[in-house]
Amino acid sequence: MKNPNIVILGAGYGGIITAVKLQKSLGVNEANVTLVNKHSYHYQTTWLHENAAGTLHHDHTRIPIKDVINTSKINFVQDTVTEIKPSEKRVMLENGDLMYDYLVIGLGYEAATFGIPGLKEHAFTIGSINSARLIRQHIEYNFAKYNNEADKKQERLNLVVGGAGFTGIEFVGELANRIPQLCREYDIPREKVRIINVEAAPSALPGFDPELVEYAMNSLEGRGVEFKIGAMIKEVTENKLVFEKDEQREEIPTNTVVWAAGVRGNSLVEQAGFESNRGRTPVSDDLRPAGYDDVFIVGDCALLINEETERPYPPTAQIAIQMAEQTAANLTKLVKGDKHLEPFTPDLKGTVASLGHKDAIGVVFNDKKLFGWSASAMKKVIDNRYLLKLGGPGLVLKKGKLNFFQ
Ligand code: FAD
Ligand code: NAD
Repeated sequence: MKNPNIVILGAGYGGIITAVKLQKSLGVNEANVTLVNKHSYHYQTTWLHENAAGTLHHDHTRIPIKDVINTSKINFVQDTVTEIKPSEKRVMLENGDLMYDYLVIGLGYEAATFGIPGLKEHAFTIGSINSARLIRQHIEYNFAKYNNEADKKQERLNLVVGGAGFTGIEFVGELANRIPQLCREYDIPREKVRIINVEAAPSALPGFDPELVEYAMNSLEGRGVEFKIGAMIKEVTENKLVFEKDEQREEIPTNTVVWAAGVRGNSLVEQAGFESNRGRTPVSDDLRPAGYDDVFIVGDCALLINEETERPYPPTAQIAIQMAEQTAANLTKLVKGDKHLEPFTPDLKGTVASLGHKDAIGVVFNDKKLFGWSASAMKKVIDNRYLLKLGGPGLVLKKGKLNFFQ
């Protein structure tokens, strides 16, 4: 009998951990495993806001796939997926196609723009190394341009971040640290630059611990971040953002809007015909969509309901990694002829969000609150733990955040 073809789409947290685990649990004489990814590198999405602000170089965030994948065991294809055809067990790529016996979809997230006029055309999103690098360059360009124009344009120095969820808050935390450096570099008085975080809900970080939200806002406001809370973004143009607050329409002149106000699953998944809710496909506890025994979905493309709260688990790296581990274990069983798959049970360890490199907030280990240095150190421990899982101690030494005081 021929070896089954296992095809993994995407080398984000979900895809790469599935591949790393399978290269240990299956021999080359048991299955042909192929990993497909747009880029030759894996990136840590959870650090992209630092790359976008310019507080961390993007080379720190990306890891060549060949450094963590043994290409004599796993076939790595650098290509872009253009279509998934489940009825034919085929995946179309820009430069060819692949047939599968088992498919793992880990194609990650896209920005959800909710049809807001001008967002797609004029706002930036933090979605990849390329998009993060563009934001950093764009901010620097505007700072450089400012003193080269006779009529100095305030919109070049107004940086607006849409959404005060975890992505928005983490990004403004980095900007607050970066802007003083940029002001010195481009001879711009710090007080001329505005960092404005616009949030529609009645609070920043809606639903998170109120004491920690207050701590975060105080920390960020102390470093010059302005919050517009209860302010719904309505439109973005080339040089302004429009929002509505208390039934009043207000405008902020700006050349820089970074949209961090929501994510959805990769459109390719719904285009493939899987049932989907904002691009996330409902999966059962073995992470397969109903009616597709040969397809597993991991990470942000999967919609899994938490039976306790009856709400979907949030799309996080933490859950993507755990889903990948379970999927690799279940695929190993299937290949070895055991059809009894283990159900996936997330082991939620908490949430820690950075507010810049030396500050953070978090709730860990059953409601223990952390803030300041201890939360920041915990965030680095979490990041280093992931690198250890992915590539062992060598990768931690190469890419880890080892200075807990910086
Ligand atoms: P991704 O990590 O998005 O990876 C998808 C992969 O698929 C990418 O490598 C991409 O290049 C590839 N790909 C996409 N389309 C194609 C295509 N057509 N063809 C080929 N390849 C393709 N979560 C936490 O738990 N903790 C955090 O601290 C945290 N911080 C975050 C900070 C930021 C700034 C952001 C934006 C998110 C953060 N998250 C965090 C959420 C977390 O990053 C996501 O939940 C996680 O990345 C999802 O993993 P994934 O494997 O599903 O997808
Ligand atoms: P999110 O959906 O969690 O937050 C988006 C925010 O934007 C919300 O507060 C929402 O009220 C606001 N918003 C939506 N539409 C708006 C509008 N028109 N105008 C103004 N505000 C608007 O999205 P996110 O922050 O990108 O997070 C995505 C996922 O990634 C979540 O699951 C999150 O937990 C995870 N994440 C985790 C971390 C961490 O653990 N440190 C960091 C970043 C992201």
